[in-house]
Amino acid sequence: MANLKWGGVDCLELAKKFGTPLYVYDTGIIKSRCKELRDTFINRWDNVRVRYASKAFLTRSMAKLIEHEGIGLDVVSLGELYTALSAKFPPERIEMNGNAKSHDEISLCVKSGVGRIIVDHPDELQIIEKYAQEFGRVQKILIRAAPGVDAHTHAYIATGQTGSKFGFPLDGDMLPDSIKYAMKSEYLNLTGLHFHVGSQLFEIDDYLKSLDIIIGLMKKLKDSLNFTTHELNLGGGFGAVINPAIPAMKSSFYTDSMMKLLHEKCKAYNLEIPRAVIEPGRWIISESGITLYTVENIKSLTGITFIAVNGGMADNPRYALSQAEYNAVRVKNFDEPVNYNNTQVSIVGKCCESGDILIENAKIQEVKPGDVIALYNTGAYTFSMSSSYNKLQRPAVVFVENGNAKLVVERQSLEDITRGDLLID
Ligand SMILES: *Cc1c(COP(=O)(O)O)cnc(C)c1O
Repeated sequence: MANLKWGGVDCLELAKKFGTPLYVYDTGIIKSRCKELRDTFINRWDNVRVRYASKAFLTRSMAKLIEHEGIGLDVVSLGELYTALSAKFPPERIEMNGNAKSHDEISLCVKSGVGRIIVDHPDELQIIEKYAQEFGRVQKILIRAAPGVDAHTHAYIATGQTGSKFGFPLDGDMLPDSIKYAMKSEYLNLTGLHFHVGSQLFEIDDYLKSLDIIIGLMKKLKDSLNFTTHELNLGGGFGAVINPAIPAMKSSFYTDSMMKLLHEKCKAYNLEIPRAVIEPGRWIISESGITLYTVENIKSLTGITFIAVNGGMADNPRYALSQAEYNAVRVKNFDEPVNYNNTQVSIVGKCCESGDILIENAKIQEVKPGDVIALYNTGAYTFSMSSSYNKLQRPAVVFVENGNAKLVVERQSLEDITRGDLLID
């Protein structure tokens, strides 16, 4: 019988010291993911790059950690870019995505020397040119293509299908016209193409189908416009497992097959093999993170038991958004067998929505009010999607490793809740 430890630190101690709800990240796991990417992708293939999709989880300490691990960052907003730059992240290792970039975002990208801007709309070309001219730069860009493959994942996290709001459609003139425009521009250096199939993909078929279509596009662009794709960004979306008892997906499961297809098909088409870039988010961060909550009360009704905790959709809206699944344990004696075998158990939050559910069918040890529970694999898209709905205070973030715990984001204070909220008469 033991308490759950994370990064070698007793989770009850963490709850006592930092309060709950609490986001806890084992940086050892993040580093081992980065090492796996170096060992099985960066060092296995020539001329490849990794960019961490920072929207999954970004703090300044996280940016620093990623920098030390030799990986780049993918950002999608002024706020993410600012966070990275304020942590002194090297701008040339940053790439900017996004389907609705503002002038302010594009201007800061060009001014600060961001490595690549991934163009998602033809209008962006002239805006980038304008700022490149103003700041005396030649901006490297990629164009995001929508391969038209409908990925097998939740509809809200599929992005590569026909009719997606992301990317340039492969039919019609939009794509070739923009490529021609960029090739002529003195201020744009169009280095290649980008695509992203979707998120939380556990099979390789949709990737390979999309990649195959994109290599076909590269061939067409070479033949019709003499355009050479020097770089190809394959996107992210590698699956993160839900249950810690199930081994994590290997990144090489995705990258080996994709690189093989890329090499073979480019050779067959007599195309230069482009530099391949991947931008995983959740695969790097999801499994390193857990969230600690304190149980407020338990309501046993006929057929269902609600375990209500002191957080919920404000700190983790992912069940509400896309029915994301999680596993939970009671921190104290977490290795005891699960109880509640004869009833359905829902772990719910304290927000004023019936959809404020964390786990719909939980398998967990018996709990009582005041017990601390841990949700596993909450590292991705929780802190980054959190809100202060119901004026809940956004939880703190703690990094743990080798028995040490360090606070990296403070819990919002009550003063923070009314910061900027002007009281007028
Ligand atoms: C969200 C996103 C990613 C990362 O997705 P994950 O599922 O977290 O790996 C990568 N690239 C683009 C363009 C994205 O929008």
